[in-house]
Amino acid sequence: MLRMNSRSPISLIRPLVRRLHAYVPGEQPKIAGLIKLNTNENPFPPSPKVLAAVKNAVDGRLRLYPNPTAQSLREKLAELHGCAPENITVGNGSDELLALSVRCFVEWKRDARDVWHLRGLQLRLAKATVQYFTPSYSLYPVLADIHGAAKNESSLNPDFSMPGLEELRRGKNWRFDAALTFVTTPNAPGGRGYKTSDLEKLCRAQKGVVVLDEAYADFADENAMELALKLPNVLVARTFSKAYSLCFQRVGYFAGNTELIAALDKIRDSYNVNGLGQIAAEATLDDLDYYRANFKKIISTREWLSGELKELGFRVLPSRTNFILAGPPKFPADNWLQKLRDQKILVRWFSAPEVRDYLRITIGTQSDALALAQAARATL
Ligand SMILES: *Cc1c(COP(=O)(O)O)cnc(C)c1O
Repeated sequence: MLRMNSRSPISLIRPLVRRLHAYVPGEQPKIAGLIKLNTNENPFPPSPKVLAAVKNAVDGRLRLYPNPTAQSLREKLAELHGCAPENITVGNGSDELLALSVRCFVEWKRDARDVWHLRGLQLRLAKATVQYFTPSYSLYPVLADIHGAAKNESSLNPDFSMPGLEELRRGKNWRFDAALTFVTTPNAPGGRGYKTSDLEKLCRAQKGVVVLDEAYADFADENAMELALKLPNVLVARTFSKAYSLCFQRVGYFAGNTELIAALDKIRDSYNVNGLGQIAAEATLDDLDYYRANFKKIISTREWLSGELKELGFRVLPSRTNFILAGPPKFPADNWLQKLRDQKILVRWFSAPEVRDYLRITIGTQSDALALAQAARATL
């Protein structure tokens, strides 16, 4: 048995890590017959061609390291987006790349004693600042905390639309000099889509790097990929998880200026994307029609369910994603969470003040939506 000395192992952990509140992922419970609408997974399986490609790759090759730069996947992505493979880096999910972008572009926060005059302090603080709107993806503050960066939060409008530049200038606690700004577009958990023209104005006004996190772009009517290929400070984050039914494989990517991409490549693990993931993602890109048909189904189910819930008295925000944010009537939203769970339907509730009156409901199949609408009616 390992003998511990009298020192508590807690003292061996960096204070920053001891204090850290880790990201809380949605539950993955094993309950038979559960309708799982809590983590924005796609209700449709990957294309049969993707499943076949993965199965065919499960052989003696598993002993080999995968391609360290996901070369052939990047070539296919470059063709899809009309750019060069050097404009793209692939990650173990886009979450990995979000974390790398903090490590790549943001300094650590120092305490004021390190700094000898005020201008220096402001400059240093800007270079150590991770900025994002609230509410948005709740991973960003955790990534900033892990790094020891400063966080700058600025609230979206109450309807989760994005404040214009003038509003941001007039005291929304926004920093145009932040080293790194994350924008979830379409927004999560709000669901709203943002206009590329508005995003462009924001990106041009920012002195630092802007990551446009487009995890849900395939469910929207526009996306901002062009900005990553035309502005030197913009990266667009995409993932195979949500739209391409591939959460299990963990594949995401960033597109942007070759200098920024090369910098991210310097600090990522050599074999960050596993071989089966690369094969699955490539086969996905060879069968996009299959997925586009699924996007259509999910979008029409989204619109149908939004209408049903509105009739039942829910406040439903317009969504450009594969989930809706719905404010339930009569009882607090967290009571609804429990009541739906009792009926074997799992949705998500966030305690953050801007969204605590809402449930976030992933759009599943049409029959999932029917079950949810019926459960909601029974609950009222
Ligand atoms: C799901 C999600 C991600 C993470 O995607 P992975 O590729 O699975 O890591 C990133 N950003 C947002 C806004 C998401 O909702």
